[in-house]
Amino acid sequence: MGSFATCAANAHEADFTDEGDHLTERIERLRERLKKESVDALFLSSPSNRRYLTGFTGSTGVVVVSQETVYMITDFRYFDQVSAESPHVELVKSKNLLEDFVTLIKERKELRRIAFEAEHLTVNTYRAIEEKLPQHVLTPAVGWVEDLRTVKEPSEIAAIERAVAVADRAFTYILDRLKGRTEREIALDLEFFMRNEGAERLAFQSIVASGPNGALPHAVPTDRVVAEGDFVTLDFGCVVDGYCSDMTRTVAVGKADDRQREIYDLVLEAQEAGVKAVRAGLTGKEVDAAARSIIEARGHGDHFGHGLGHGVGLDIHEAPRLAPKVESVLEPAMVTSVEPGIYLSGWGGVRIEDLVVVTQEGRRVLTQSPKSLIEV
Ligand code: ZN
Ligand code: ZN
Repeated sequence: MGSFATCAANAHEADFTDEGDHLTERIERLRERLKKESVDALFLSSPSNRRYLTGFTGSTGVVVVSQETVYMITDFRYFDQVSAESPHVELVKSKNLLEDFVTLIKERKELRRIAFEAEHLTVNTYRAIEEKLPQHVLTPAVGWVEDLRTVKEPSEIAAIERAVAVADRAFTYILDRLKGRTEREIALDLEFFMRNEGAERLAFQSIVASGPNGALPHAVPTDRVVAEGDFVTLDFGCVVDGYCSDMTRTVAVGKADDRQREIYDLVLEAQEAGVKAVRAGLTGKEVDAAARSIIEARGHGDHFGHGLGHGVGLDIHEAPRLAPKVESVLEPAMVTSVEPGIYLSGWGGVRIEDLVVVTQEGRRVLTQSPKSLIEV
């Protein structure tokens, strides 16, 4: 109880692959941040941040990054997995993660100022640490690892593209399987197709919103049967090699009427303007405005009540954000969605969403599915 053993897991030089180099680089960049913030170590509790820095895909483990060492405190179930996935970390074999974290910090006398992830630590755990380490300085860290994650490495963009390709294929597949089925059946079919095509899981619960349900930007699939005359908004994505995709298309069941066409064309125009505006050096609010101004000019500003886009990576929603008031600036190799929508209560809605990567020259659209109005 309370005691722990450490061992450097399989740190053979020859085992270091490209992935190992990426991890080393990521950790070095985080260490610069620790220095800048004058803390000795960062206690990581976010699973995505843990995976990003260590390669460890298990679901339980506490990572402590200091200037000298990366510790992974985890339990018996994961010892072999840590050795295989994270040869550069020092494994702390643990029976109680919190107790062993406290023991580690007490033993490493040079670790005085400890940062914790304020957005990912429960109040309970924080209070327990505070109580057990009264002599230490605990300081909140917000976005330290998330900031590093915004600019993607080529291998990360490649993984996102694989997830995008699965979603694109799912869209083609589902098109002639909409009419006469419930939203829930369609959502299940999308999931089954994507997992069959190699997706690990959904990136989020798929949205299938037909007819008036399309007026809810985050509609949950219902037992409503898709019928002639409906617009159907399909917003879905999957995870491949840890990385998410996210796309939205709105399709007409039967021939679209004039009102549907008018709203669709307006959202499409705004979406294309938003995509064209994506460029390194622009702020999130500037890109948002490029699309929003088009919708506002036609009197629908109040019907577009969410931001234009969000970053995608290990998490489905991450930095950067494209929205009014966002001052942060886009950089090459950031990946963002561009997804304007118009939602009219009682009538329905239209949303069109692509994933886009910022490049040196401008942008590259990852989503390949067509955007002209499809009538099925
Ligand atoms: Zn989406
Ligand atoms: Zn999205």
